Amino acid sequence: PSSRTADGELALELDRAHVFHSWSAQATLAPLAVAGGLGCEVWDFDGTTYLDFSSQLVNVNIGHRHPAVVAAIQEQADVLPTVAPANADLARGLAARAIVGHAPGGMSKVFFTNGGADANENALRMARLHTGRDKVLSTYRSYHGNTGAAIVATGDWRRIPNEYARGHVHFFGPYPYRSEFWSTSAEQETERALHHLERVIQAEGPGSIAAILLETVVGTAGVLVPPPGYLPGVREIADRYGIVLVLDEVMAGFGRAGSWFAFDRFDVRPDLITFAKGVNSGYVPVGGVILSDEIAATFDERVFPGGLTYSGHPLAMASIVAALAAMESEGIVANAARIGAEVLGPGLRDLAERHPMIGEVRGLGVFWALELVADRATREPVPAAVMGQLKSELMARRLLPFLAENRIHVVPPCVVTDDEVGRALAVYDEALSVVEAGL
Ligand code: PLP
Repeated sequence: PSSRTADGELALELDRAHVFHSWSAQATLAPLAVAGGLGCEVWDFDGTTYLDFSSQLVNVNIGHRHPAVVAAIQEQADVLPTVAPANADLARGLAARAIVGHAPGGMSKVFFTNGGADANENALRMARLHTGRDKVLSTYRSYHGNTGAAIVATGDWRRIPNEYARGHVHFFGPYPYRSEFWSTSAEQETERALHHLERVIQAEGPGSIAAILLETVVGTAGVLVPPPGYLPGVREIADRYGIVLVLDEVMAGFGRAGSWFAFDRFDVRPDLITFAKGVNSGYVPVGGVILSDEIAATFDERVFPGGLTYSGHPLAMASIVAALAAMESEGIVANAARIGAEVLGPGLRDLAERHPMIGEVRGLGVFWALELVADRATREPVPAAVMGQLKSELMARRLLPFLAENRIHVVPPCVVTDDEVGRALAVYDEALSVVEAGL
């Protein structure tokens, strides 16, 4: 074997011997050893190239190894590779200014964290301290991160073994394809979901509720695009009861939805915004909270009881400045919007015409889901074994997929080209045909 092949074998051997993986039974793992990447592609140690339609964990928005971001990290490492958060750091100021430049007016400060979970953790703390209230409302179909309050705010199965934080209440958000409200139209779904939310607030005691925490577009739990009027309606309800609205833009923000923030497309204004992933495409771990001036002012004279050694880490800050500058100058967010509207969305809908297994296509920008069903009439999800087969067929055709429950999330980097989308659509088409033929 070549030395590259030997490195690949060593990577897998060391991984299996010494690395404990997330969300997994350790004995069942079969990871891919990734050796490198560029743009929308990654390759293994044997040089087999894969089209990355997962963006890893839906975070590599700018694509793999963008030269300007790599250079900015290298240059910063040469100047000041680390500094305590209490100091003023130029890269941090520039990063914060670049971020708030894309936020609505009246939001001028950023608190930096290590990732998305602790961004939500700190946003909830700010909302609780600002309102003097305790409870946090979030939806059953959500993922907000794997720390104390963030995992309990999460709705999916991962919350249940981890319920150690208090004061969390869940409700159902809109999901027209599998409505909890017997709705037959998006309009009805909006109206009934808002009624349900308001009833939950009234029953919990409006004076006890600090925050409503929502993913603008629900990500891991299904790429659920909110129906028209839902988010503005939540804003109105939050205002009526003096509740802070936190929009979690960790997955949906910074280009994924074809806009700088996903909420730009839904006529709603949050009080706190949490972000991570796409802000620097994960080249260095980072996240943060953007605060409304009103909430920031709560802590003008009063101590904010929170901090992290790596809050505003210079390597992360330099990577944010470079990533946002490149996204602007190269029109990367506009590309995500165009691809979604003109190439990827129509291409996926075309697949649905030909594959009865596709029950629904939904999404925007480079943020799409194919919801797969055993029967279009009953909408019964396909079994896990079918998802396993699909994964093998997609990987065999050199496409890295993102699969969740009975769905394929189609989430390439925002820099994806028409040609790459064309190649991916052909792969999904073939893989679906092979699996459908075997049923
Ligand atoms: N919020 C959302 C919407 C996410 O998708 C994620 C991660 O997938 C998180 C929060 C948590 O971010 P992190 O894994 O960086 O802590």
